[in-house]
Amino acid sequence: MAQAYDVVVIGAGPGGYIAAIRAAQLGMNVACIEGWRNESGELSLGGTCLNVGCIPSKALLASSEAYELVRESYDAHGIGVDGLRLDIGKMQARKAGIVKKMTKGIEFLFRKNKVTWLKGFGRFVGYEDDAYRIEVADEEADGAPAQLVDAKHVIIATGSKPRALPGLEVDNRIVCDNVGALAMTEVPARLGVIGAGVIGLELGSVWRRLGAEVTVLEALPTFLAAADEGVRKEAWKQFKAQGLRIELDARIAGVEVGDSGARVRYSIGEGEPQTLDCDRLIVSVGRVPNTEGLGLDAIDLAVDERGFVPVDEHCRTKAPNVWAIGDVVRGPMLAHKAEDEGVMVAERIAGQDPHIDYGMIPWVIYTSPEIAWVGRTEEQLKKEGRAFKAGQFPFSANGRALGTGHSAGFVKVLADAATDEVLGVHIVSGAASELIAEATLAMEFRASAEDIGRVSHPHPSMSEALREASLAATDKRSLNA
Ligand code: FAD
Ligand code: NAD
Repeated sequence: MAQAYDVVVIGAGPGGYIAAIRAAQLGMNVACIEGWRNESGELSLGGTCLNVGCIPSKALLASSEAYELVRESYDAHGIGVDGLRLDIGKMQARKAGIVKKMTKGIEFLFRKNKVTWLKGFGRFVGYEDDAYRIEVADEEADGAPAQLVDAKHVIIATGSKPRALPGLEVDNRIVCDNVGALAMTEVPARLGVIGAGVIGLELGSVWRRLGAEVTVLEALPTFLAAADEGVRKEAWKQFKAQGLRIELDARIAGVEVGDSGARVRYSIGEGEPQTLDCDRLIVSVGRVPNTEGLGLDAIDLAVDERGFVPVDEHCRTKAPNVWAIGDVVRGPMLAHKAEDEGVMVAERIAGQDPHIDYGMIPWVIYTSPEIAWVGRTEEQLKKEGRAFKAGQFPFSANGRALGTGHSAGFVKVLADAATDEVLGVHIVSGAASELIAEATLAMEFRASAEDIGRVSHPHPSMSEALREASLAATDKRSLNA
């Protein structure tokens, strides 16, 4: 006899675990299937984000930033440090400790909310008597038999995996995806990165700050194509000044992997063939949805031409009572987007009517300076033919930024020319990841630039730059520039 649940969630990344908790809070009988094993072979909740994504990358970004600060910036504060040394083992142990705390935290939350964790991987096996039947199996668990469960509603939250480059095997020793790039135990003297997207820039920054000579090869003639042009230019200037070498329009002809390194053969556009020799190579050319072994055909579901599970704006699939959320469906591959969809679906199953405004999902790239935006770029507004006003304020004129040593970058506010409604906010700054939350809140409430300009902001604070840029975007002028 199969155990029956109101809701079974497949996958416990930020989409799945949040959906499970919210559904349980709303009174449903919920199970969540997850078979992820960490590097020690232990089962672990949290998916890509907590185990090998957002959380460990931000831990290493913080450690490497601290090291670079001491090395490059403390002198200006009048602080001299002799005998500075780097202990990568300790740095990695700190990262592992944070990951463990967070993943164990989800186990606690599951117990607290009475969500049953079904250990293993789930596969649809059929539909009978108004319920979906799912087999849960864990091949790595010695002798544990597969179990069958029934669910009235199923939420597919199986996430994504790294896109591979044809013919290049990832061994996470010399050639690394995000997993290997986060687990290196020594700083490579020469690090190659294929792909100047979010992972390439963040993890390239980590190892550059720790002493690697980093070269990033990017296929497109531009980088960070989704960002506002002004932001791209500023970021390019800053990264160049830091010594991050980025080669655009790079065409990879092949990669030879040896015992101690790799040689990448490439050309820039139609130019002469070139080679890049590196001790480690990170491949970060995007991620693809993960539906491997899910048995979608057993319930007559098929993925689209890019491998995503097709859903409507409320994350409903074609199969009744089957929903899909997070990286496995259309939209940005971001943890907070996955979480928002998890909450929305759980509440819809409970009969509520929430929705997500996909135009208001903020982006943050955790380089230094950080890059963040929400809403539309200047290019998008021009393309739409929408008349707008732009206001910009530099952090070099912000007292708090000067005091903390984060004077690079700016805030740019774009507002409708007629109504003054804020349409987009773009930030390059050491504090961008925090400042963008205020901008997102303002935009969700359809604030005008004048509204933000009239709100009292603490002084001195980096948030004053958002106020000043908003003032500049209305017909008023900013006060401090
Ligand atoms: P995932 O987190 O991928 O989780 C899916 C889970 O489903 C996995 O645990 C998997 O084991 C499980 N699963 C798969 N198949 C089955 C099955 N058949 N049965 C049971 N379980 C299954 N996003 C941000 O917003 N901010 C960041 O700073 C950020 N940093 C990142 C850094 C890196 C290096 C990477 C790789 C990603 C980063 N992301 C970041 C993206 C973010 O991790 C993803 O958008 C997010 O994890 C997606 O959540 P999800 O729940 O859809 O899927
Ligand atoms: P990405 O889509 O951000 O960037 C991939 C880059 O690789 C692109 O610039 C692309 O043009 C380039 N590329 C593709 N094929 C190439 C080739 N053959 N040669 C050279 N360059 C090539 O993907 P990513 O960096 O792998 O990250 C995957 C996703 O994970 C991101 O899109 C993002 O959604 C998520 N993520 C988010 C954060 C964050 O929010 N801070 C951090 C890391 C990852």
